[in-house]
Amino acid sequence: MTFTVQPHRESLGLKTGQLYIGGQWGPAADGATWTHRHPGTGEEIGEFASGGAADVDAAVAAARAAFDEGRWATERAGVRVALLHRYAQLLRDHADELRALQALDNSVPISFGAIYATSVGAAADVFDHHAGWVDKIGGQTLPPYQGGDHLAMTFREPIGVVSAILPWNAPFLLFAQKVAPALAAGCTIVLKPSEYCTFSVLRMVELLVEAGLPEGVLNVVTGQGDPVGEAMITHPGVDKVSFTGSRAVGKHIVEASAATLKRVSLELGGKSPALVFGDAGNVGLAAATVVGAVTMGLSGQACVANTRALVHRDVYDEFIGAAQGMAAAVTYGDPFDAGVISAPLINEKQLDRVLGYIEKGKEEGRLVTGGERLGGDLAAGNFVAPTIFADVDNSATIAQEEIFGPVLAVVPFSDEDEAIALANDTEYGLGAGVFTSDVQRAFRVSRKLRAGTVGVNGFQIEPHLPFGGFKQSGLGREGGRSAIEAYTEEKSVFLPLTDEMM
Ligand code: NAD
Repeated sequence: MTFTVQPHRESLGLKTGQLYIGGQWGPAADGATWTHRHPGTGEEIGEFASGGAADVDAAVAAARAAFDEGRWATERAGVRVALLHRYAQLLRDHADELRALQALDNSVPISFGAIYATSVGAAADVFDHHAGWVDKIGGQTLPPYQGGDHLAMTFREPIGVVSAILPWNAPFLLFAQKVAPALAAGCTIVLKPSEYCTFSVLRMVELLVEAGLPEGVLNVVTGQGDPVGEAMITHPGVDKVSFTGSRAVGKHIVEASAATLKRVSLELGGKSPALVFGDAGNVGLAAATVVGAVTMGLSGQACVANTRALVHRDVYDEFIGAAQGMAAAVTYGDPFDAGVISAPLINEKQLDRVLGYIEKGKEEGRLVTGGERLGGDLAAGNFVAPTIFADVDNSATIAQEEIFGPVLAVVPFSDEDEAIALANDTEYGLGAGVFTSDVQRAFRVSRKLRAGTVGVNGFQIEPHLPFGGFKQSGLGREGGRSAIEAYTEEKSVFLPLTDEMM
């Protein structure tokens, strides 16, 4: 029998989603709403306000006032540090509730909470980490370059009003990666969650209000990419756009924001390679790691998932066998069932897209396992079987394009130089994995890969480690000092100490 998530919806007492502008919760100016349907069952989960340009105007005005009148930007460091730590603790206290809300939003299973990077705990750590920056955002005093008695110094100042636009797939981490450094730097924010993952983000906002955030500092406009996101990237009152999502929308943001020359940070997609060498200590573990990332939890709907496995011919058959075994172990269904470890695709559009790539893959490679939509008890949801294609040429569509589903393309290679060349032969450059027991090879290869993050025999995202993409995977970095720099402008001040210099 098809499962239902309705009892969880009832017990969580989901409220109607509203916009949060200038410290007030309320409906969209024109009263429009959007009904969210669960991707695993098709059930109606709830309605939330579907904003428009007028709502973005109001949100930007509130953020502008909070910034320009200094309610947050000039608040003393101690107050900001305490608030961010307080919020981190509130997140930890509400981790179970947030995980359950996420399961209603995007059907990512509650068992996935054990994976650090996308957990509520990781989001809390990101806030704690950035709280540590607040009282360390400083500039330099430099020695005089010319003659004469003067001071030359720099300051780092908050960039202003930030439009923060989120995708649907990892709400906790991605909310934190934008909001924590922006608040730490003294910026104010207009935030848009994805229309496919709104309720868990609204709860995160409620908790931020509970932590004591002053009104106007963070404003939320829920709704569609167009008109809400569109207004957020073109509004003259916005100083910076921070976006995580697809490459297509990322490119559009660069064009649309050019008219007012906004600062732009982009975290986009990838086609990340895993390089499995003949000396990989444990080929079975390497296969389980790669296939796990492409099938478990988000069902391959993860930007850094290693969706291209480049495997040395010496261990090729062993890898394929182990990968097949791992794929067979992935379980689907009710996200509240602790035994379920993967998710459906987020919507029907994405389901059709992934099935289209799978048909293409049947022409471009050898189907090892999967290759179909799951039926039976799961027929009401957007479930696709873990799919592995072997003997794929690196130039094939399924080895080059981001599929954003549980589809792995396996490409054989013969030596290290070939592996590096294949790995870098992509328009993307987000992540990469190197599986080897030779530490020199690990460093040698890692240095040559054109990717923002390289994992050696494993992969992790951490709050203090910059994360972002080379090439068409993005612009800029989130995490650590890089994030603080991304939300501040540098100012130079020159001050003669005598009248002679004037
Ligand atoms: P998407 O680009 O469809 O949507 C992302 C957000 O942009 C949503 O809030 C959407 O409403 C909004 N949007 C859509 N059109 C817009 C417009 N014209 N102007 C402004 N905003 C607009 O992406 P998605 O399907 O939500 O997420 C999947 C994509 O995100 C994948 O490509 C994935 O690789 C990428 N991603 C990247 C990272 C990273 O850190 N690099 C992390 C997660 C996801």
